[in-house]
Amino acid sequence: MIDAGMDCVRINMSHGELDDGLQLYHRVRALSADVGRPVGTLVDLPGPKVRAGSFGEDSVMLEEGHRLRLTPGSRASTTEVVEINYDDLLTHVEDGDTLSFGDGAIDCQVVGRDGGSLIAEITHGGRLSGRPGVHIPSDRLHVATPTREDLHILDAFVEAGVDMVAVSFVRSAHDVRRVGTEPHPRGPLVVAKIETRAAVQNLEGIIDAAGAIMIARGDLGNECSIEELPHLQKHIIRMCIAQGRPTITATQMLESMVYAATPTRAEASDVANAVFDGSSAVMLSGETAIGHDPANVVRTMARLAARADANFDYSGWARQMVELHMSEPSALDGKVTDALTMAAARVARDLHCTAIMCITRSGFTARAMARFRPDAKILAFSPDERTINQLTLSWGAVPLPLTQFAPNDDMVAEAVAVAKAQGHIRTGDIVAVLAGTDARSRATDVLRVVNVS
Ligand code: PEP
Repeated sequence: MIDAGMDCVRINMSHGELDDGLQLYHRVRALSADVGRPVGTLVDLPGPKVRAGSFGEDSVMLEEGHRLRLTPGSRASTTEVVEINYDDLLTHVEDGDTLSFGDGAIDCQVVGRDGGSLIAEITHGGRLSGRPGVHIPSDRLHVATPTREDLHILDAFVEAGVDMVAVSFVRSAHDVRRVGTEPHPRGPLVVAKIETRAAVQNLEGIIDAAGAIMIARGDLGNECSIEELPHLQKHIIRMCIAQGRPTITATQMLESMVYAATPTRAEASDVANAVFDGSSAVMLSGETAIGHDPANVVRTMARLAARADANFDYSGWARQMVELHMSEPSALDGKVTDALTMAAARVARDLHCTAIMCITRSGFTARAMARFRPDAKILAFSPDERTINQLTLSWGAVPLPLTQFAPNDDMVAEAVAVAKAQGHIRTGDIVAVLAGTDARSRATDVLRVVNVS
């Protein structure tokens, strides 16, 4: 999958044990070192994710009109009794509520209760396998996120040095702050998953508090009406870009490729449109976790994204961003960064620069530059390994390690040498170089134009 184009690995802790997750993490680290390419690691905390007990590997059919019992627990499910890992199922879920299984594969309505079970009728039938997620309307769920179990998982992964952490079922900026890790890059980049109605209402504060955002369309599609989903996707991406936060568009992107060798035409369009919307990253889930040919899926997605990139409206985007930023008041550091990244976008366009080289301690300069979605490639240099791995999520960035922080001239010289050695730039190219030189401020305060010798 790395060879096929995978930049970042999500380890979804909703499945498997902690030790399995950590083993996978160490395998990714070792493979990344073997192939000599940075691969970001993202641990996804389950949060108060509710799941049904396993239906087994072969899918089970649940027909419309069929009645079954829903019981708190986590033992295997059958077509008659489905155990659901939510202790308060009987008290918090009310008669008349609609529950949905497997990102909308099956819907059922609670029609009554009998002793220790809810009785539910299938209102939309379909097939289920494995441990499908169960969507209970978020205003019925009374569990804080991150949960105690999440924080336990997080501790183990932070100790191991994970690059990013995704927080599920975030409702407010407070939920993001409760993660409580060191600010990135010392700690993991915190990715807030937007998948509840409350998160959509509190979007601005959440984006401000988080390092990146995931549009978790599976659960979000259960929480809002389905026709709203494409518009929410565009709205969330736009807000993230304005604030320089990477955005991951996730779920069911190439779902049919769990079994099929090629995607549906609609899926192919979905990936391309996510790129046109300005997504920094597109994510695969079941396609690579349980799919028949994960490397083929990654290769297909990489081809779709690269082709969409070739038709991306770079200049139109840059114009929109300039307008967005000009109308927003910001603190001095922000204004300096806005002015210099805007100037770099202009320089790169006017001088036909091959690359915009961002020399960055925390990744801030590269992320700020990415807001303008420039035509020239962004080469993101840092001596900090964690920053390099965190930049695997950033739009258009090729993360490249430097040996050390040094006076500005020396770092520029090393960056040019590394970029040349790896074939990103050549003698005679003109490149723009952006850097933040003042460790006390977060501003990007240097822009140079270099004629590569
Ligand atoms: C989603 O709901 O779309 C999502 C990405 O979260 P998870 O895979 O944990 O269900």
